[in-house]
Amino acid sequence: MEQKYNPYDNVLKVVKSAADILGYSDSDIEAVKYPERELKVSIPVRMDDGTTHVFTGYRIQHSTSRGPAKGGIRFHPDVNADEVRALAAWMTFKCAVVNIPYGGGKGGVVCDPSKLSENEIRAIARRYTAAIAPLIGPDQDIPAPDVGTNAAVMGWIMDTYSMLKGHCVHGVVTGKPLELGGAVGRNDATGRGVMFTTRNILDKLDIPMEGTTAAIQGAGNVGSVTARLLHEEGVKVTALSDVSGGIYNPEGLDIPAVLAWLSADRKHLLKDYQAEGVSHISNEELLELPVTVLVPAALENQINAGNAEKIQAKVIVEAANGPTTSEADEILARKGVVIVPDILANAGGVVVSYFEWVQNIQSVSWNEETVNEKLKEIMDSAFASVWELAREKDAPLRMGAYLIALKRVVDAKSARAIWP
Ligand code: GLU
Repeated sequence: MEQKYNPYDNVLKVVKSAADILGYSDSDIEAVKYPERELKVSIPVRMDDGTTHVFTGYRIQHSTSRGPAKGGIRFHPDVNADEVRALAAWMTFKCAVVNIPYGGGKGGVVCDPSKLSENEIRAIARRYTAAIAPLIGPDQDIPAPDVGTNAAVMGWIMDTYSMLKGHCVHGVVTGKPLELGGAVGRNDATGRGVMFTTRNILDKLDIPMEGTTAAIQGAGNVGSVTARLLHEEGVKVTALSDVSGGIYNPEGLDIPAVLAWLSADRKHLLKDYQAEGVSHISNEELLELPVTVLVPAALENQINAGNAEKIQAKVIVEAANGPTTSEADEILARKGVVIVPDILANAGGVVVSYFEWVQNIQSVSWNEETVNEKLKEIMDSAFASVWELAREKDAPLRMGAYLIALKRVVDAKSARAIWP
């Protein structure tokens, strides 16, 4: 029987390879292999039709060695403990590679927001927050948006936590509405970071941005902002997809028109988008298109042993978390495809989350120019370090990123030593 895909196995495999290169013993990395804390909660909600439905939620803290746990909350029907565990660990390494003072955590609720009313989503967010309240807080664990959640949900989380504490606690969550201490630039931050990273890698490979083709899988916050910013940089975005499928125009899509149509109505799906020269493709077909840059910006396990051989892109910029399995990594390395790993490429979101938290705990506010400049500085410098180390070790960029991140995590753990 085929073994079920478990993204946490992917994490452990990469960590082990990085540890071998760094010369670490099993004992050095033993504690990194286990999440520090896992909480599974039941979330009873009174639905709009008067019935009671109990949703399942998780909050998992992989590491707090370098600082409070940090990471998003996902509302999606496929959420499960193994996925949240992997996402939490990726946050640990992501925060370490960009050197912000956080560990890693992640949360999720098994639900399908597209089938829920706003009232039901708010009720889930509030009861979930109450259930995980003992674990979270500005010094402990700071949630943020992820797939299926947004600024509005973060606002309800902030309010619920503040109600329980009896006073306003801005710094408990990031990605909030601006009125509640959200950071200007946070909404675009992950996509902006992906754009900076794409620019950096194309630069190293001597490929001009102008006219280079890109296909983007996913039109959520990350995919749509990436599409807009790459288009503004002169990249020819030829394909974009959402849950319903993809659209393709080899001459380049009119990205502003597509994004305006998508945002005109929450129910608009790309399968219904019509324009001259645009054909409809599946999400699988999008990944195999003849483009220079492929940006998976949806879920895990999209590029795997089943399709890696068929990938035609020269460069993959991982805007999603865990889109490429370790089997696919090996196949793509053999084919000479350059992959900029998730923990580096999509770190822009958590970097600006860090800026938001810093502003919240100091009660100050920065303007958008400052946020974007500081974001660029961190993304460019992290990219340069990863690129250099990968070249020095003659290793793929993913390994370069993990070598830097794992060393920072292990160094922090060893400086703290094991308590008691
Ligand atoms: N969910 C985002 C990620 O996977 C952002 C996390 C954060 O801002 O804490 O990186």
